[in-house]
Amino acid sequence: MSNSISIKDILLCDNQERLKHLIQMFAKYQMAGKRYEAKAWHAYFRRIAINPVVFYQHNVALFYEDQQYYQETFQVMEPTCIHGDLHIGQFHYYFDDINNERIFKIRRHKKIIAPFTWDLKRLATNLVLIAYHQGFSDTEIIEILHVFIRQYIKCVTTTTTTDKMILCKKNSIETEQFHQIKPCSLHKQFSVISSIPIKHEMYEINWKTFDTVANLMILAEQIAIIVANSHCQPPISIIPTQNTIENNADHCTHIIQTALSSYNQQQELINDICLFSMTYAQIAERDYRLFFKHFRNERIFNGVNVINHTRIPHPLTNARSVSILIVGGGISGMVTALSFARAGIPVRLFEKKTEFGEIGAGMQLAPNCSRILDRLDVLKQVQANAFFPKQIVWMDALTGQRLTCIDLGAKFIETFGYPYIVVHRADLFNAIYQACLANSMITMETDRTVTSVDERPKSIMVECADGMRYDCNMVIAADGLWSSLRKFVCDDGAPISAGYVTYRGTIDIKQVSKEAGLENVQFWIGPDIHLVQYPIRRGESYNQAAIFKSKKIPDDTDEWGTKEELNQRFSIGCKHVKNALKSIQTNFRWPVYDRNPLSKWSRGRLVLLGDAAHPMLQYAGQGAAQALEDADVLVTAYKKYGPLKIDSVFREYEQKRIPHSSKVVQFARDIGTFAHCDGVAKIVRDKILKEHDIYDYEFLKWIYEDHQKDRK
Ligand SMILES: Cc1cc2nc3c(=O)[nH]c(=O)nc-3n(C[C@H](O)[C@H](O)[C@H](O)COP(=O)(O)OP(=O)(O)OC[C@H]3O[C@@H](n4cnc5c(N)ncnc54)[C@H](O)[C@@H]3O)c2cc1C
Repeated sequence: MSNSISIKDILLCDNQERLKHLIQMFAKYQMAGKRYEAKAWHAYFRRIAINPVVFYQHNVALFYEDQQYYQETFQVMEPTCIHGDLHIGQFHYYFDDINNERIFKIRRHKKIIAPFTWDLKRLATNLVLIAYHQGFSDTEIIEILHVFIRQYIKCVTTTTTTDKMILCKKNSIETEQFHQIKPCSLHKQFSVISSIPIKHEMYEINWKTFDTVANLMILAEQIAIIVANSHCQPPISIIPTQNTIENNADHCTHIIQTALSSYNQQQELINDICLFSMTYAQIAERDYRLFFKHFRNERIFNGVNVINHTRIPHPLTNARSVSILIVGGGISGMVTALSFARAGIPVRLFEKKTEFGEIGAGMQLAPNCSRILDRLDVLKQVQANAFFPKQIVWMDALTGQRLTCIDLGAKFIETFGYPYIVVHRADLFNAIYQACLANSMITMETDRTVTSVDERPKSIMVECADGMRYDCNMVIAADGLWSSLRKFVCDDGAPISAGYVTYRGTIDIKQVSKEAGLENVQFWIGPDIHLVQYPIRRGESYNQAAIFKSKKIPDDTDEWGTKEELNQRFSIGCKHVKNALKSIQTNFRWPVYDRNPLSKWSRGRLVLLGDAAHPMLQYAGQGAAQALEDADVLVTAYKKYGPLKIDSVFREYEQKRIPHSSKVVQFARDIGTFAHCDGVAKIVRDKILKEHDIYDYEFLKWIYEDHQKDRK
């Protein structure tokens, strides 16, 4: 079956089908390779395990689609793929068992059978795979490929016959130019085209030094020069065939140069090679993982006994190394990334959604939130789109009577150092996100869902839904209210619902009646209901959130807290409240949850942060603010103890943050109880509120004051 299917068809198969093909190919090799002893199998598997290129390229050699193309032009005299190694034209890439090293060699092979795009693509794929293994992001990988192809084109198109010697000299292996690429042999051979002696060059590359994007770019450039040089420096040793119309090397050089003479063609080549290499490398990685997931399964792969016999220790070694990984690209994750980056510490952030962004409407940002935003240098951007309310007014939702307010004027700002502001959450998010984007210390990746974590002796292994694995020194779980990583620390079940639901959204300020008092945050409270209103976006939009307790028992469905119930529950409200309800958005329903505080937020090298650690009811307007404080404290502790003392970092973070945020969780619950009460409790409450001094901020100091005053 495998022989009759083309590589293109295999690539189009679904995972299971493709696995079948791969295993069949493998089994075929096993039959053909009876002569291989267990030791050889061992070595073979280890090579595959460490270097997926070998494995994949091996298959490609069996089903090589391009074969058609080059068969028209060149005749294959003997296979170029040697069992267990990768030979792509001049490029020889393999794992050296004796020295336990990956070796990449470039040589002017006697029999080069590849047209130039063919080996450029394969070589580019190798660069991509190396970059994948180093854990670089897709954007970085594309950039490396661009550097590679641009350099190649530059060399090829500017090389005239007279230049060739200069280029050759300039890029001679003796020069300093070839950083970390060392010549390992130099022979003289005779070209098969003519009797001109040619150099048989072989270079060894020290892979360990190519662990940064910049270094890999240097390597990409250097390889591009070598390849361009070999393509343009006659004689290229191409095997002559009857089908080849022209087989002299100058002619080939000329073809390459002509092909790349126009800008459009160059661009096409760049696009083509980038796309090919990325796709190809991704497939190679995926198949490799798929294969190893199943290869111990005897039912699927009957060669398992041979493999078992060889006792392969760790077939999967392709995890990328990450120092600090943040899981979750919400406000908490972003702010944490930015806090680390501002301290000069590089981080990587994974978000499961395909795009970064926040949904929802307004947010209240208390001074403790602004303080951290200021430290992160994003407060100005946030304030540019914010609204500065004059007061937080508490109103009776049933009678329309004003109960009390908290004045947010000069005394408030003087007391806490920052004003109380209200923003659209997208504006807050965007300010933080843009700052992250602009910071080279942060690598952000979307479409990365972390599915599991696993403790290792000196690291923590994180696996994503696509099978990619990351060996991390520290993981910060900022994956929100429904955090799956929280279970790793403590499996305390699902978030708690008291049966409240929120409907919220923004409307144009012009739709709002002036009576509403457009300068303030208004908090309309009633039995089991409340309505929050305030302007956002410099006062151009108006945010409204209606919260009520459903009469139904909360469950996983959306059949409780429906919009019909919303209207019914708010029908007891005063005129203003009923009017406001008419413009409340009802297309999205937000059940309200929190969790009981934990006594521990970390396990091993993983720590919880933000809603993953302490989800709270929104009534205190502190969810995001507390997450920002978490990030601030965590980074301060990390700076103090460093990456080698993660346990001390976590201990200090937990000691400072757990007691405080737990109090805030309780405070938010208390506000809910206070706001939603009825009967005698309501009478007492209203009395307390009416007697409240609007300039008395004592009860807020413990939340809004700076807890990190003494930070170094
Ligand atoms: C109605 C309402 C009003 C609020 N009002 C305020 C307010 O006025 N002031 C205030 O300070 N706070 C407020 N909050 C709270 C505030 O919105 C939250 O505390 C804050 O947004 C939490 O951010 P987070 O990043 O921790 O979680 P989230 O915003 O939930 O972000 C978690 C992220 O992790 C990603 N993720 C999840 N699992 C994975 C995974 N396995 N792998 C990779 N990524 C993953 C998710 O896609 C998501 O992007 C309010 C909350 C609500 C519901």
